[in-house]
Amino acid sequence: MTATPRRTRTPRAAVPLLLVLIALAALAPAAGCGRSGSPPVKGPKPGDLPTYRVDSSFSLPASPTWRRAHSRGRLVVGVKDDQPYLGEKDPATGVYSGFDIEIARMTAASLGFPASRITYKAIASANRETSLSNGQIDMYVGTYTINPLRKRQVGFAGPYYMAGQSLLVRADENDIHGPQDLKGKKVCSAAGSSSIQRIQSDYPDATAVTYDTYSVCVDNLLTFQVDAVTTDDAILVGYAAKAPKEMKVVGRPFSKEPYGIGVSRSDTALRLALDDAIVAHERNGDWKRAYDATLGLSGVPAPEPPPVDRYPGSG
Ligand code: GLU
Repeated sequence: MTATPRRTRTPRAAVPLLLVLIALAALAPAAGCGRSGSPPVKGPKPGDLPTYRVDSSFSLPASPTWRRAHSRGRLVVGVKDDQPYLGEKDPATGVYSGFDIEIARMTAASLGFPASRITYKAIASANRETSLSNGQIDMYVGTYTINPLRKRQVGFAGPYYMAGQSLLVRADENDIHGPQDLKGKKVCSAAGSSSIQRIQSDYPDATAVTYDTYSVCVDNLLTFQVDAVTTDDAILVGYAAKAPKEMKVVGRPFSKEPYGIGVSRSDTALRLALDDAIVAHERNGDWKRAYDATLGLSGVPAPEPPPVDRYPGSG
């Protein structure tokens, strides 16, 4: 059963989580902070981040998306804005940071767009395919799993990272160790995500609760409205690292979620150019530097990136 108690627009969703985290930080005794064993509670600082060589002579006339972006002088990239270490917007400065943002910056640089010429648009999981098909965004970089169903609607460059579905629970939870323990429990995830689809198809005894964003699910977990939040481990470790006394990731990942850069399905030229860009940035060390400065801060060392699947045509 799916309950959709309320809908929240993505740009606003980051704020309640942030308020909860600030409140938790204020309540935490100072002596407890930074104790050994606690992951570092810090985000990437602009100075720590790599810079990418902009290929200003790059041209891709075969790509309608690139031509449109080139003539407007800006690349419009769909992202998440409430996923710590992956794609997060600082509400005070409006600055985006995280591993997905770095993937967007490094591949944009290969397409001839410096960071100053990227416009980010926060797009929720359920709206990704439509935003790409109707040209609202030029590409999408935001924990976007490549799968056969989605490939019928959009094109995917990559994968550039391999995640796996996992579970986030309150720190004092003792009954939930993996998806097999979800019977009769309320499990929250984002509408339109592969995570909620897997719960509904493979664990029908759980009560699925959907919102537009994971940060709203985390608010619901902290306020005892749900028993668990489920999505990719890469996303969940970020929330847990920001409030390690309140939440923990449990069990082993129970799926494979290869992250791709979404593009319009008909724009094969752009997709292949992005595949080339991903491979080049993996080879020259940018990928690892970007990981270490972002997702690596959650405490998980850099893995080997998965091999890029450069599939032909638009299928
Ligand atoms: N990677 C999964 C997906 O693409 C879950 C994360 C998300 O919703 O962005 O559906």
